[in-house]
Amino acid sequence: MSTKEYDFLIVGSGLFGSVFAYEANKIGKKCLVIDSRKNLGGNVYCEKMEDITVHKYGPHIFHTNDKKIWDYVNQFVSFNNYIHTPVSNSNGNLYNLPFNMNTFKQLWGVESPEKAIEIINNQINEFGFKNPKNLEQQALSLVGKDLYLLLIKQFTEKQWGRKAENLPASIIKRLPVRFTFDNNYFNDKYQGIPIGGYNKLIEGLLKGIEVKTNCNFFDDRAYFETISDCIVFTGKIDEYYNFKYGKLEYRSLRFETELLDVKDFQSNAMVNYNDANIPYTRIIEHKHFEFGEQPTTIITKEFPEEWSTKKEAFYPINDEKNNSSYLKYKKLSKNSNVIFGGRLAEYKYYDMHQVIASALNKFKKKNAL
Ligand code: FAD
Repeated sequence: MSTKEYDFLIVGSGLFGSVFAYEANKIGKKCLVIDSRKNLGGNVYCEKMEDITVHKYGPHIFHTNDKKIWDYVNQFVSFNNYIHTPVSNSNGNLYNLPFNMNTFKQLWGVESPEKAIEIINNQINEFGFKNPKNLEQQALSLVGKDLYLLLIKQFTEKQWGRKAENLPASIIKRLPVRFTFDNNYFNDKYQGIPIGGYNKLIEGLLKGIEVKTNCNFFDDRAYFETISDCIVFTGKIDEYYNFKYGKLEYRSLRFETELLDVKDFQSNAMVNYNDANIPYTRIIEHKHFEFGEQPTTIITKEFPEEWSTKKEAFYPINDEKNNSSYLKYKKLSKNSNVIFGGRLAEYKYYDMHQVIASALNKFKKKNAL
């Protein structure tokens, strides 16, 4: 029998840490969850402002094809029937996303799928590449010149702070193109926003579990390493190993949130801003995630930024250099009895349903259930 105070110390209360803690607590394991932020929930944390649920770390739309994951989250909170239908502003004109017959009608005036397919194929034949070497070549090979120049190039360069010719082709593996008049961004069977916000989901997962906020693992590492049989670490893996193989790089974001004295600012939850001369990539109008009827509105402008260790790490930069350093850290982690999980510890972009599935799998593996 263990003499330690906890079975699990869980570093980070994002979805990975919270799902792991819930599963462990359910089978009678004693857990402590710590988080360096002042709030629980990691990037899905929301705050109420003017009775509107504001997504503090960027807009989060839950979507999955996996019924098990959908049922899992629905144990804790019900979801509304929000369908994500973003639009993109380019040169002052609005285009529907993802690329579909509405976009093609707006762009070329065409109304038949045959005509749209013909235009795209002609452009791919003229401008595409057999072995695309960078993001620009990749996008031209997938959707042709018009969509690339109007709706991809400037947006992506703003997002990553680099020229499309200098970005790896792998960033765009697929570009969903749909030849129906369907603006639903996701193809998944299940989609929605938790009614009352993501905090309800996190509260449900962490109910009855000891938590400490404003508590950074590295501020008292020696102590934290002694208090449990097993550590579940969801922070940065390079930091855990004292940056032994160098720092893994990220792209950061800055959010500017404003209260506006109008009922409706943009009639949609998300409008992308494509043009290079506009410094933000999108404006989120939070009330539309929950069909809000409040008299005022809250919007957030999202500005992509260079990352430094003082800023929040949002998107891993999975280029060759970073991936190769990450693999070295991953190798080290194989010989440790710490469980590394989630977007920072695995240095990868995860959607919420994926991170939940990963936490459930790692928990099962640990407990051989
Ligand atoms: P996090 O949520 O980041 O949680 C990690 C936690 O660990 C944080 O709270 C952090 O403070 C804490 N921590 C780190 N280091 C330490 C330490 N040393 N000591 C103590 N605590 C520490 N997914 C979707 O499915 N749909 C979307 O629409 C969507 N939109 C997104 C928009 C943006 C802008 C971003 C960046 C991501 C989006 N995601 C979306 C992805 C989603 O945010 C992630 O899948 C999910 O939040 C990852 O959970 P996590 O537990 O791995 O990490």
